[in-house]
Amino acid sequence: MPQRTPKQNLIANIWLVVALFATLAYIASYYLRQTQPVEPVYEITYTRFKALLNEGQVVSVVMRGLDVQGELHSEQSIGPNEEYAMRFTTRLPVMDDATLLPALEQHQVDVKVLSAEDKPGIMAFIISFLPWLLIIAFWIWIIRRTQRQISGGLGSKGELGKFLSRHAQAAEIPETTFDDVAGQENAKREVTELVEFLKSPEQFRKLGAEVPRGVLMMGPPGTGKTLMAKALAGEAGVRFYSISGSEFIEVFVGVGASRVRNLFEEAKKNAPSIIFIDELDSIGRTRGTGLGGGHDEREQTLNQILAEMDGFSGHEAVIILAATNRPDVLDPALLRPGRFDRHVVLELPDRNDRIAILKVHTRKVPLADDVNLEDIAAGTPGFSGADLKNLVNEAAMLAARDKEVIVTMRYFDDARDKLLLGTVRTLAIQPEERHRLAVHESGHALVAYYLPHADPIYKVSIIPRGRALGVTHQLPEQERHTLPEDYLQDRLAVMLGGRCAEQELLGTVSSGADDDIAQATALARSMVSRWGMSKEIGPVDLRDSEEHPFLGREIAQPRRFSESSAQAVDNAVKQLLKDAEDRALELIRQQHTQLESLIQTLEKNESLDREQVESCLEGRNQKQAL
Ligand code: ATP
Repeated sequence: MPQRTPKQNLIANIWLVVALFATLAYIASYYLRQTQPVEPVYEITYTRFKALLNEGQVVSVVMRGLDVQGELHSEQSIGPNEEYAMRFTTRLPVMDDATLLPALEQHQVDVKVLSAEDKPGIMAFIISFLPWLLIIAFWIWIIRRTQRQISGGLGSKGELGKFLSRHAQAAEIPETTFDDVAGQENAKREVTELVEFLKSPEQFRKLGAEVPRGVLMMGPPGTGKTLMAKALAGEAGVRFYSISGSEFIEVFVGVGASRVRNLFEEAKKNAPSIIFIDELDSIGRTRGTGLGGGHDEREQTLNQILAEMDGFSGHEAVIILAATNRPDVLDPALLRPGRFDRHVVLELPDRNDRIAILKVHTRKVPLADDVNLEDIAAGTPGFSGADLKNLVNEAAMLAARDKEVIVTMRYFDDARDKLLLGTVRTLAIQPEERHRLAVHESGHALVAYYLPHADPIYKVSIIPRGRALGVTHQLPEQERHTLPEDYLQDRLAVMLGGRCAEQELLGTVSSGADDDIAQATALARSMVSRWGMSKEIGPVDLRDSEEHPFLGREIAQPRRFSESSAQAVDNAVKQLLKDAEDRALELIRQQHTQLESLIQTLEKNESLDREQVESCLEGRNQKQAL
C-alpha cells in the first residue's frame, strides 16, 4: 500500500469531514423539506391577517405559541411585492386579542393549536442525529487505524517506518565496553570469540569457519545480560539493534513477523551488526502448548525469527543475541544447533565481582574516606549488578537530600537497610503490641544466634518498614550455591522462633507469625518433595509445582503421584515443622534470661545490628550446638 505524506493525510481528513457534512446537510435539508410547505409562503402583518379573516378568505390556521401559519381559500396578493400566494405566516400580538377566536369561529376556520416546544428546530434535529454522527466517526476511525496497522505490518513505511526508525536510530555503535561489565569473567570469555569474528569476519570466512548465529544469554534479572550484549557490540565496534520480544507483538496477526523480517533486513544491510532480542521468552515459548496465550501472532513471529536465522548464508556478519530469565520455557526449535545454540550464563556476582561492580558504579560518586567497598560487598550477598547500582544510587540520593557533598558509609548502610528491609513507615503502635513485636523478633534473633548453622543476624528491628511491623534479617557470610540439610533445619527453627517466643513468654500466639509459617511450610515442602530430606519419603521427586530456574518462583503443575504419596508428603512436612518448633522452644526455654535481656534492649533501641545483638547475648563465642 503506497504511503501518504502528512500533507496528503491532512487533505484526506479534510475531504472526509467535508463529505460527512455534505451528507449531513443533505439529510437535514431533506428533513426540513418534509416538514415545511413547498409553495411560496409570505409573512403578513397581524392587521392584514385580521382583514383576510374578516373577508372570509382564511380556511385554516396552525398556531404554535405566537406564531401562526395559515391557508387561504384562493390565491391573494399578499407578497411584499403584491405576489399572489395561498399560504402565509404571521405573529399574534403579545396582549390577548379577545376578538380573534370568535372571528375564527364565525368564519368557520379550521384551527389547530400546537405546543411551542413542538417546533422542529434545527438544533433538535442535530441533537437527534448526534449519536449517529459519533458512531460513524468512531467507525471511520477504527477503519483508518486498522489500515494504518496493517500497512505498517505489511511492509509500507507507515507504522513500520516508525518502528524501524526507532530501532535503527538506536542502532548506533555503543560506547559500552567490557570494562563497564565488572566480573562475569566466564561470560566474557564465551563472547570474546564473537568479538573477533565481528571485527574481522574475512579472517573466519577464509578458513570456512562458521560462527554461531545465535547466542542465548540467561541468568537472574539484573545480572547484566543487556549490558553484556551492548559491551559486545561496543568492543567489536558494530551497530547494535536492540528490541524487546514483546515489541514484535501486535493485535494483528502478521505484524510481528513482518517486523522481524524488516529488522533483519536492516541489520543485514548494515552488517557487521548485532541484533539483541530482550525477553525472548515472551515470543519464544514452546509452540502449541497454550502457555503464555499461545496465539497465532506469537507463533508466526517466532517462525519468522527461525526462518530468518536459517536464511543467513553463514558468512553474514550478523549475530543475534537474546536474553531470557526463563530458558526452560523456550521452544526447543530455538535452541537447536544453527540457532541459539551457544548459551552464556550470567550468574549473581560473588564477593569479588560485587567489589568490581561497586567500583564501576562509584566512578562518578564522590566517596568519603570511611567508605569501604569491600565491606559493602561483604554485606550484600545475593545482590545482582542492578541491585548494587541501585544501592550506590540510593546512597548518593540520601546524601544529596542531606545536602552533603560527599557520600559517607552511613548513607550506604541506610541505603542497604532501605533496600533489604523496606522504607521506614510511621505507624501508631500500642505499647502492648510493641512488646509482643519485640518478643517475636527477639525470638527469631535468639534462635538464629544460638543455632550453629544459621546465617548471622544482619539487623533486628521493631520499626515498621515496608509491609512488615518488625523484622529480623540475616545475611549469609558467603554466597551459597547449595543448601545443606542442617542449614535448612536451622533455618526452619529460626523462622518459627518468633512464634515460639510469643507462646513461651506471653502464653499465646498471634497472627504476626503468618508469613513465617507460610515460608517455613514452603521450605519444608521443598525439603521433603524435592530434595529427599525426609527419611520416610526418601529420594523421590514428589513436587506439585515447577520452579522458575532464575526467578525463584513456582508454577503449579498437575500432580503426578498417588493420593497416599501426597498424604505421606503432608505428614513429613508436618513432622519437619514440628521438630523445628521443638528445637526453637527448647532453645528459648534454655536461654530464657538472654531472651528477656534481648527483648528489653530491643524495646529500648528499636533496632539492633549484629554487634549489638551479640554483645547483648554475652559475646560472640557462646554459640553452642544443640
Ligand atoms: P533483566 O533480565 O531484568 O532484563 P539484565 O540481566 O538485562 O536484566 P541489565 O539491564 O543488563 O540486566 O543490567 C541492569 C543494570 O545493572 C545495568 O544498567 C548495569 O549498570 C548494572 N549491572 C548489571 N551487571 C553488571 C556488571 N556485571 N557490571 C556493571 N554493572 C552491572
